[in-house]
Amino acid sequence: MATKPAVKTPTKPLSQLKEEICDIGRRIYAKGFAAGNDGNISFRLGPNEVLCTPTMISKGFMKPSDLCIVDMEGNQIAGQRKRSSEILLHLTIMKERPDINSVVHCHPPHATAFAVAREPIPQCVLPEVEVFLGDVPITRYETPGGQKFADTVKPFVKKSNVVILANHGTVSFGETVEKAYWWTEILDAYCRILMLSRDLGRVTYLTKQETKELLDLKQKWGYTDPRLEKGMENCDICANDVFRSSWGSTGVERKAFDAPSPFGADPKAAAAPATLDYESVVKAVTEQVCRELGIGAA
Ligand SMILES: [Zn+2]
Repeated sequence: MATKPAVKTPTKPLSQLKEEICDIGRRIYAKGFAAGNDGNISFRLGPNEVLCTPTMISKGFMKPSDLCIVDMEGNQIAGQRKRSSEILLHLTIMKERPDINSVVHCHPPHATAFAVAREPIPQCVLPEVEVFLGDVPITRYETPGGQKFADTVKPFVKKSNVVILANHGTVSFGETVEKAYWWTEILDAYCRILMLSRDLGRVTYLTKQETKELLDLKQKWGYTDPRLEKGMENCDICANDVFRSSWGSTGVERKAFDAPSPFGADPKAAAAPATLDYESVVKAVTEQVCRELGIGAA
């Protein structure tokens, strides 16, 4: 049996880690990612100790003394305030990913809109997103709080550092609190740009070749991407191939955004105008027919 990589114990003092969590709390609140008392943040202190935010407090106004410590089963072992009710989500991710130490969960509005619409996040639009984010999965819906809810992320946590929770929000994770938060901020900015550009009337996708160049860069810089593991042949890299098999069970369906390209084709070649101006077409055809029949068009 393969041995799991050992959990790395942080070298920073506890007081500094608490400050870092409060700082990210202020940032998620300032960005509008956590209304009311929403959101929760955690950091792994050791094999059976996790620092986390408490429930019933605005994440924008926490003091280091407000934070709690739980064991890996979610039992509270330190802190005056009650630990977050969503800690099982954090612990499940930490158990699956020994390489990560921090988890950030919140409700960023643009990414959450995709979670409510169950619209897959289109690929092959922004270079930075292709390199740093990659494909982003959406879970199936489950009532928040329990282990059943936490288990919904399991199929995806080894393939992505950020997961969209159906009709709920996002969860992202990394080696540090800052890195864990990073993915959420990048994802929400991307979702916002997608919605704005669609409102302008057109989303231009990168071509397969342009995307391949970005994935090559990603590999060169040492980032992994499930699209690279599959190999590029016969793989529609722009069309959410990685997580498409989960769509049937999660209710995810492409409705608001077109598929970037048919299998293997150049998306730009397939980029026809979004709507046809039927009135102009009918007028032009009518005029032509009238001209040929020698009668005056109305
Ligand atoms: Zn939540």
